[in-house]
Amino acid sequence: MYKNILLSNIDIDTSHKNYRKLLMTNLGYLLAFCVYVMFSFTHIFMHDNLTAGLLELIFIVPALYGFFKLRSDKNIQKSAMLASYLLFTTILIVLFLFQFKECIVAWALLFPFVAMNLCGPKRGLRFIIVFNIIVYIGAYYFWTDTHLSFISFARFVTVSMIISTLVFFYEKSITSSFEKQEQLNASLIASIEEARELAITDALTGLYNKRHFDTILSEEFNRAKRADEPFILAIVDIDNFKPYNDTYGHDSGNNALEIVGKILNRQTSRSGDYAFRIGGEEFAVILQSRSSENVDNHFNDLRSKIEDKKIEHMNNKPYNLLTVSIGAVSVVNYEGLTVMDAYREADKNLYAMKDKGRNKVLVSKI
Ligand code: GH3
Ligand code: MG
Ligand code: MG
Repeated sequence: MYKNILLSNIDIDTSHKNYRKLLMTNLGYLLAFCVYVMFSFTHIFMHDNLTAGLLELIFIVPALYGFFKLRSDKNIQKSAMLASYLLFTTILIVLFLFQFKECIVAWALLFPFVAMNLCGPKRGLRFIIVFNIIVYIGAYYFWTDTHLSFISFARFVTVSMIISTLVFFYEKSITSSFEKQEQLNASLIASIEEARELAITDALTGLYNKRHFDTILSEEFNRAKRADEPFILAIVDIDNFKPYNDTYGHDSGNNALEIVGKILNRQTSRSGDYAFRIGGEEFAVILQSRSSENVDNHFNDLRSKIEDKKIEHMNNKPYNLLTVSIGAVSVVNYEGLTVMDAYREADKNLYAMKDKGRNKVLVSKI
């Protein structure tokens, strides 16, 4: 009920900067509706003032229009502006209609609160200045001409100016604390995003890490199964990497890992393709749907790209260069098959290639 009437069924958090605006706009329309109905009734039936009564009945139309328009297009900014213009016009019309008599002028003191709240400090201030100038001219004209003295006029202007100034600074302080909060939220979100990225990234190669592999492996297997597409997984292992480290040193080993990481990254640039570092010198690749011919070509290409880097490795006979062996699987028949079966198949193929002399690729279709 509260959400429906005062928040136009808009999902908005109380900490959102537009929350107050929305609440105020709806309250404004509702109060305007009640006040116009009540006043038009009394003017028509109790005071015999048909002009005022009819005018107030007419004012009901834009108030209702604003109330329902806010519900249909959910544009808080636009509706707040409409409410401000409405208040601006109706208060001025009423003041001039009643020639600033008696307590009618109290309505003019309401305007700064509402306008500042609905329009924000900058636009609100401009709005209030124009409004006050018109009111002061009217008050001066009607009051000094009748029983009220210039002193009364000066008192009214002073109070009105004090209220406008206080409301302006109050609104300004609220707006700037909202802005600060927004900046803090944005930097918090960026830090969380960064931490999330770090948690799934391998520091040395920049590829995804083993933790992310464990998540994506099952996710992609299930996705491919549902979509009835082949699930393609490869395990890539650097050949004789222990002797490489022993011969060229740990730092050179790290450089070699980075180079292999870069090539893997480039080979998996298509969206839906992934490359991971899942162990010391062991990598995994998951590819989005491709024909079996393309799968063979893709991994042979990957293997030769690493060999073509011509990184010297004297203890990787007979190539004398840094090479990788690749075991891959393309799952097409998911019947009774788990993701671990697919992983074991790729691993088995990798070790078959190590046994066959390394620097080779084997892809099997299961
Ligand atoms: P194979 O061809 O059968 O795979 O032999 P291999 O020597 O590559 O395999 P093994 O598992 O015996 O050795 C892996 C080596 O990888 C052991 C370790 O020195 C090296 N290694 C693991 N992590 C890192 C790393 O972060 N940096 C460096 N430089 N070396 C690493
Ligand atoms: Mg190895
Ligand atoms: Mg290994």
